[in-house]
Amino acid sequence: MIGSVLKKVFGSKNERELNKLRPIVEQINALEPQVQALSDDQLKAKTPAFREQIDQGATLDEILPEAFAVVREASVRALSMRHFDVQLIGGIALHQGKIAEMKTGEGKTLAATLPAYLNALAGHGVHVVTVNDYLATRDTEWMGVLYRFLGLTVGTIVHGLDDRQRQDAYHADITYGTNNEFGFDYLRDNMKFSPESMVQREPHYAIVDEVDSILIDEARTPLIISGPVEHSSDELYEEMRPKVIKLRQHQDRFLREIFDEALEKLEREGDGEAALELLLKVQRGDPKNASLLDLIAKQPALKKRLERLEGQLSTQKLLPQIDQALFCVIEENHNIAELTEKGLRLIYGGHVDDYIVPDLDEELEKIEADDRLTTTEKRAQRQKAEAFHREASERFHVTRQLIKAYWLFNKDVQYVVKDGQVVIVDEFTGRMMPGRRWSDGLHQAVEAKEGVKVAEENQTLATVTFQNYFRMYEKLAGMTGTADTEAAEFKKIYDLDVIVMPTNEPMIRVDYPDVIYKTEAEKFRAVVEEIKELHKKGQPALVGTISVDKSEKLSSMLSKAKIKHEVLNAKHHEREAEIVAQAGQRGLVTISTNMAGRGTDIVLGEGVKEVGGLHIIGTERHESRRVDNQLRGRAGRQGDEGSSRFYLSLEDDLLRIFGGERMSSIMERLGMEEGEPIAHGMISKAIENAQRKVEAHNFEIRKQLLEYDDVMNKQREVIYKQRREALSGESLRPTIEEMMQERCQGIAHTFADENVPPEEWDVKGLRDAVYRQFLLRLRIDRNTMDELTGERLAELIFESAMKVYEEKEMDFGADQFRGVERMVVLQVVDNLWKEHLLAMDHLKEGIGLRGYGQQNPLVVYKREGFDMFMDMIERIKEEAIRFLFRIQVVRPEEMAAKEKARQEKISYSHGGDGVKAPVRRKEKKVGRNAPCPCGSGKKYKKCCGK
Ligand code: ADP
Ligand code: MG
Repeated sequence: MIGSVLKKVFGSKNERELNKLRPIVEQINALEPQVQALSDDQLKAKTPAFREQIDQGATLDEILPEAFAVVREASVRALSMRHFDVQLIGGIALHQGKIAEMKTGEGKTLAATLPAYLNALAGHGVHVVTVNDYLATRDTEWMGVLYRFLGLTVGTIVHGLDDRQRQDAYHADITYGTNNEFGFDYLRDNMKFSPESMVQREPHYAIVDEVDSILIDEARTPLIISGPVEHSSDELYEEMRPKVIKLRQHQDRFLREIFDEALEKLEREGDGEAALELLLKVQRGDPKNASLLDLIAKQPALKKRLERLEGQLSTQKLLPQIDQALFCVIEENHNIAELTEKGLRLIYGGHVDDYIVPDLDEELEKIEADDRLTTTEKRAQRQKAEAFHREASERFHVTRQLIKAYWLFNKDVQYVVKDGQVVIVDEFTGRMMPGRRWSDGLHQAVEAKEGVKVAEENQTLATVTFQNYFRMYEKLAGMTGTADTEAAEFKKIYDLDVIVMPTNEPMIRVDYPDVIYKTEAEKFRAVVEEIKELHKKGQPALVGTISVDKSEKLSSMLSKAKIKHEVLNAKHHEREAEIVAQAGQRGLVTISTNMAGRGTDIVLGEGVKEVGGLHIIGTERHESRRVDNQLRGRAGRQGDEGSSRFYLSLEDDLLRIFGGERMSSIMERLGMEEGEPIAHGMISKAIENAQRKVEAHNFEIRKQLLEYDDVMNKQREVIYKQRREALSGESLRPTIEEMMQERCQGIAHTFADENVPPEEWDVKGLRDAVYRQFLLRLRIDRNTMDELTGERLAELIFESAMKVYEEKEMDFGADQFRGVERMVVLQVVDNLWKEHLLAMDHLKEGIGLRGYGQQNPLVVYKREGFDMFMDMIERIKEEAIRFLFRIQVVRPEEMAAKEKARQEKISYSHGGDGVKAPVRRKEKKVGRNAPCPCGSGKKYKKCCGK
């Protein structure tokens, strides 16, 4: 009460905001006679003149009044529409980066031309965002006449354009397009391999039409680009798995025998050395051997003695003698799993030599020294040797990981298998850690062991929420008929103020109070009755439903009653626009879901004013008041006659689920008869309360999505920035050298512990690690080694690696090699980022499933997400270097073919809104073993089909 009195005295906040804008409108109006006096050419000449002024340092605010006056005059001449004063106010609000609430039919399309023109003068592009392709095209054509009159260029971004067309559209002064296309282009640009194929400029200024629809309704689901999951080395795991199983069987049988022998010896000889040696064998062959662990539990002293014996044999270098009886050796605390010669023979039959990783250096030297070979032949042989080497070491790696999976990792202890996925169990807390994956192929090995595949057929390649996409614009503005109810959310999430515009003509629509029936059936009967009445009078009716289902139900009822009508369901925008544009014609009945035909102007037909204008019937209240207002707002535009009424039933979801006790008790008190509606203020209040509750709940969901996406957003920014840098054309060589240095230090750190004397360093491990990283045999003999520090070791590795690297660069030619570096870094970044996205998805899902007591899941997500991200960064370095040292010759066409194949498998989605393109396969399916269609001469599975 007091509030409304005060409002009358001082004016509401909104009034005050509007009052601030009014003087500017007067300025614009005052300039009108002046611009009217200009010839067409003089008017057009204003555009370059404004640009000149801006170059001289004038601000947009300073030239706003004259620029708006020019646009208005140009509109009169080009479109025969003169911007109303309220449209000028709206235009100023949009220029100021606010949300202008302007009712349906107030002419938002035209209002937006004012700030679009003004801001385009700055030369960085303006985006006008619409909800569908039809509106984007319509508005470009419609308003394009005006822009072009003033010498500006206009472009449209819709579905199905190629990069070239998109670039043109984005380089226009003003670009109309849909939110989905803008968002997908952003994501796609950040998956590109050359800067020339990027299409967008830096996001500058966007005006979002139907802003509530885009920034609120659609913001509940992110944009996702997905592609098929790639299993690069799956085949190798599959190939090696049965062999490792066989290995395990043989080893188990053998260990059982010697364990029994050891027991016998223990009984006969007491605690003799011979028995102990046998037990050590069991331990080295299977550290988790149940019988052994049992025995140790009974005789704890054994543990110490075994350790001592192992230490002794190790210093005497006698361990190999123990090991050679085994098929494979596992050192749990060093995380080592190694095949012995016996194991190799078991796995590979007689052809062990074929599989032993040969000493590459020796081979290469042999090739080099062979005088019978020409240079080209030498080169070919060298490559062959290297390729063989690569494959053999990859196979070894996979085998080792499989051995670990079979010997050291137990189901329901270190991991569980849940819904077809291997889920890690935290060893300290015993909690499941969905989403986390062991690295370096171990997780794949465990998956192979359990016979599970990564569940997703499709995986996310790139994703962004609308919130985070639109927040990238330097300036953001919006317009809609219904923003006020969501003002708090706009402020909080987007920092956008809502300002409500007065209507051009006074609004005279009559909004009748809701009527409520007991059952849905009664409700729909009543709706049909009312439509019959209207039909008789010739008054047009627009009936809103909340789903396609309900539309169809009503439609069949109307058909039975022999009432002609149209049904729309927001699928065919263009056709529906034509139908809905007719909805105000005499006697027409149009049924439509909420979204259908949005953005289309409904003009009243001949004689309709006399029968009361367009009547809106709502058949259910939506969860959000805003959507109800949207429906109502379709009548009574520009001072038209019109009316609206909502029909509800106690069976409606909103009342059933959210109405609560209160609603039922009100009903009971008021008493309800079959077929008798009630309309009561108390009920409207209760419904509004229910709606507020749902609105708040939905806001919470959107906020949460955003909070989670914010974690991703920071990571995305880092990765995209790095990617852009890689694409910028600067040489990556310094970065790569840095990565190499870090890797050398990392390796030295792992194998040459400062606190351990050099003679105890794991030289074999070191050599292997250097080999895996740089494809390089480290030539340091034991003696040199003993004098080394870890740091000096890192330097030595780096020097040798650099030498190889420089040779490689010479082989390729420096220029071409720069390109190779770029490609490799981009591919590695993309691959690991993609994997990371998948892992983050899992993490997010998984976190909901973990019981966290007092911990906030978001905090956990942030922390673990950060760890995973840092891991990924490390792995990017590791893998990029690894690839670079293995790369042979990459032909550009091969790359292009690969990229093309990848593109064709990609699909785009945003929630369930039907944007999702089916996975397309343009070419015929190629057999895995057939020659690759790219012409490389390799098998498809080894080339583009990888
Ligand atoms: P909104 O998007 O606000 O619902 P539209 O931009 O679709 O409204 O415009 C509604 C109708 O009003 C259109 O047919 C348009 O031609 C008309 N209109 C808008 N502004 C003016 C104006 N200043 N003078 C005359 N007609 C106008
Ligand atoms: Mg519109």
